[in-house]
Amino acid sequence: MHLVRENLFIGNISDAAEVLQNGSTEVTHILSVLSSASISFFTEWRSSLTIPSKEIKKVYVGGSGGAVNSEDVGGDGSKSCLSPEKLLYSLEHAGKDLKFVRMAVPIKDTESEVLLDYLDPCLEFIEKSRKEGSVLVHCFAGVSRSAAIITAYLMRSEQLSAEDAHESLRQSCDFVCPNDGFIEQLQMFEEMGFKVNRDSPIYKKFRLRVLGDSYNRGEKIDSSKFAADPGLPTEPPSEARASPNGPVDRKIAYRCKKCRRIVASQENVVDHLPGEGESSFGWNKRRGGNPFDKSDEFECSSIFIEPLRWMTAVEEGALEGKLSCAHCDARLGYFNWSGIQCSCGSWITPAFQLHRSRVDISTV
Ligand SMILES: [Zn+2]
Ligand SMILES: [Zn+2]
Repeated sequence: MHLVRENLFIGNISDAAEVLQNGSTEVTHILSVLSSASISFFTEWRSSLTIPSKEIKKVYVGGSGGAVNSEDVGGDGSKSCLSPEKLLYSLEHAGKDLKFVRMAVPIKDTESEVLLDYLDPCLEFIEKSRKEGSVLVHCFAGVSRSAAIITAYLMRSEQLSAEDAHESLRQSCDFVCPNDGFIEQLQMFEEMGFKVNRDSPIYKKFRLRVLGDSYNRGEKIDSSKFAADPGLPTEPPSEARASPNGPVDRKIAYRCKKCRRIVASQENVVDHLPGEGESSFGWNKRRGGNPFDKSDEFECSSIFIEPLRWMTAVEEGALEGKLSCAHCDARLGYFNWSGIQCSCGSWITPAFQLHRSRVDISTV
């Protein structure tokens, strides 16, 4: 167990086991970041030693949890990268006299694991624990997952870049090494201003890539992962569309040229940099870093959007296909999980494309 900051330790599973079994004069809270398998192994180990625990609550992503003492967070599950009804974390009292507060978060140490969606509850738990006592953040080896969580915490609490926060953590514990996927997500966390903003283009591109990865693994893609259909008036009301005091927020919408049905709103658009020969979304290349605005040079014939709930053709599981208007069936564009090249030269992967010539832009 290594001290990182006042009241903040990093460690491995043995450190946590030691604390739970023998108590601690240093730690009052434990954040366990383990795969679901390790979490249950840990639970079995603990019950074999009759170390008591008492559940406080379980929290799930969107959807309905169902279990007693459970609650849902995240509202519209389609905005998260995690599947609806996935366990986000569990909270319990544990150890001798139930004197430790322990939060367990099911994160795998793989590059494709979605770290971002777990950050908010983890960082809040660390912050709260440090006020009430002292927290041990541990994973299995104390190298990748716990290091990634603590790096994010230092980034937010000390306004440090991902690199500086990681370097600062290495001062306390020199073998920490978050996996490459986590490092990439920590850079996104930095670009989003130390927040997980699910409406930001950075997060949307990430969500699209995660969806593409899950398609490539052969997982069933269902519309619960898709964004709400902006053409349906009964979909969840966009907040502040008509705030009582301010002017009506006029949103840009794309309508089917033939029947005028709304098929996408501006917030569904996934921007790309015209003419950039990216093979996939490269979030390391920021728009601001490009001294040449190429948008005059290249005319994009396509608008790329996130998958929406009217795209029933996508749900059928094909690699590629046509996207047709949900109202009049006019052809609007194509989708292709392997990517589509825009007329400007950029490759978008996966791609959900509307032909500019098939839609009109209007304000709602
Ligand atoms: Zn383009
Ligand atoms: Zn139409």
